[in-house]
Amino acid sequence: MVSAPVQTTIFSEFEERFSASKALYQRAQGVISGGIAHDGRYQKPFPVYVERAKGAYKWDVAGHKLIDYAMGHGSLILGHNDEDVVAAVHAQLDRGTHFGAGHEGEILWAEQITKLVPSAERVRFTMSGTEANILAMRIARAYTARNSILKFEGHFHGWSDYLVKGEKPPFESPDVPGVPEDVLRTVAVLPSDDIGAVEERLSQGDIAAILVEPSGASWAMIPMERDYLLKLRELATAYGSVLIFDEVITGFRWAPGGAQARFGITPDMTTLAKITAGGLPGGAVVGKTEIMDHLLFKDEPGWNAKKKIIHPGTYNANPLSAAAGTTCLIKCANPAVQQHCDDMAARLRIGFNTVLENHSVPGCAWGDSSAYHVVVGEHVSNRTAGDLRTPEGISPATLKASGKAGLAGPLSAAMLLEGVDLFNTGGLLSIAHTPDDIDFTIEAFDRSISRLKRDALLA
Ligand code: PMP
Repeated sequence: MVSAPVQTTIFSEFEERFSASKALYQRAQGVISGGIAHDGRYQKPFPVYVERAKGAYKWDVAGHKLIDYAMGHGSLILGHNDEDVVAAVHAQLDRGTHFGAGHEGEILWAEQITKLVPSAERVRFTMSGTEANILAMRIARAYTARNSILKFEGHFHGWSDYLVKGEKPPFESPDVPGVPEDVLRTVAVLPSDDIGAVEERLSQGDIAAILVEPSGASWAMIPMERDYLLKLRELATAYGSVLIFDEVITGFRWAPGGAQARFGITPDMTTLAKITAGGLPGGAVVGKTEIMDHLLFKDEPGWNAKKKIIHPGTYNANPLSAAAGTTCLIKCANPAVQQHCDDMAARLRIGFNTVLENHSVPGCAWGDSSAYHVVVGEHVSNRTAGDLRTPEGISPATLKASGKAGLAGPLSAAMLLEGVDLFNTGGLLSIAHTPDDIDFTIEAFDRSISRLKRDALLA
C-alpha cells in the first residue's frame, strides 16, 4: 500500500512521482499547442506520459505501472495489443499500408459490420467518429431535403462545427467560439427528458435528422431511458426525419450489435468508430440502403452534380485499420466479451459506492454496460452500497461537468498515485480487466478518498 506523508498534498506528491512526465509536458508546451493532442487529456497539474501498454495495463515513462480505464478512449475492448489484432496488423504491414485502391480487406470489414449491427444494410468508412457524424448529417440532409439537425444536451458527437453546440454546460449557451452563427442556427439542442419539446420541434418540418447517443450523453453519464429512445423512433418516422444513433462508444460494446441490439430499437443510420477499427484510426456510417444510396454515382442526368453526396478521404478504409477492425469485430461477435466487460464495470461501480458509503462522503459511481462514471463531493440522493444507473437529486449539467469540475482533478491525480488511470473520472472496461484488477482499483479508490480527506478536500 502507498500512503502519503501527512503534510503532503496530492498534487505535490504527484509532481514528485511523475517528474519525468512533467519534464515531457514542459517540452511539449514548447511545440504542441497547449502541450496536449486531445482536450480530454488535459490534467492538473500535468498529464502522465505513457511509454507502452499491454492488456489492462500501461506504463508511464518512468516505468510506473497503471491499470488503464481509458482503454484507447474506449476503442480497446480487447485490451491493449490483443495478440490477434497485432498479428493481423503485422501481416498487413508486410503487404502494404495504402493501395490508393479498393482491397478485399475493406469488404471483409464491412461484411463483419453488417453481420453484427442491425441497422447496417450498407457501410461507408471514414477516419473517425467526428467524420462519421459529419457524413451522416450530410446524407440525411440530402435524403430529406431539409437543413436542420436535432441533438440533445450534453450529447457528444465529436468536434465538428455543427455538433459542438450544447455539448458542455451551460447547455443553452447560444454561441461556441469559432463556429459561425449561421451554422449554429441549423442545430436545435433539446433536453434529453422532454419528448413533448422534441415533437414540437419536429412539427416545424425542417429537421433532417435526430442525432442521439443511445446510451444517453457521454456513454450513460446522463442516462437516457429506453422508452425515450422508442418515442424518438416513433416520432422520427412520423415526421419524416432520419434517426441516427451515434454508437461511436456503444457500438460492439453495449452488445455485439451495439446499443441498438441491446435495446431492440433500430435507427435509420448509425455512426461508428473506436472498437470498429480495433484500436487503429477509423470509423463508419452505416444505414438503410435507400438512404446510403445518396453516395452512389449514377448515370441519371443531373444526379452526380446535384444529388450525390461528395465523400473522399485519403485514409478511408485503409488496409491497416481494416485488418485490425475485422479481426477485432470477429472477436466481438461473441457476447461473452461484452458480458465480461459489463460484469467488471458493475463490480467496480458497486465497489466504489461501497467505499463512499463506508467513508460517509457524498458522491456516487454510476453507469451502464461496461462504462462507469464517478463523482465525489456532490450529493446524490439515491446512492447506496450497490450498483446505480441513474443518479438522482443532481442536475444533468452537474453530472456532465463531473469529469472535470470540483474534486475530479485531485481524485484522478490521487488514483494515478495509487496506480490507476481512471480516465479523468469515467472509464471503459476491456476483456483484459480481471476481478483482481477491479479489486485493486477499489482499494486504490478507498485510499484516494483518504487522501482527499487528508488534504481537507472532503470532510
Ligand atoms: N461520438 C461519440 C459518442 C464519441 O464518444 C466520440 C469520441 N469520444 C465521437 C463521436 C468522436 O469520435 P472521434 O474522436 O473518433 O472523432
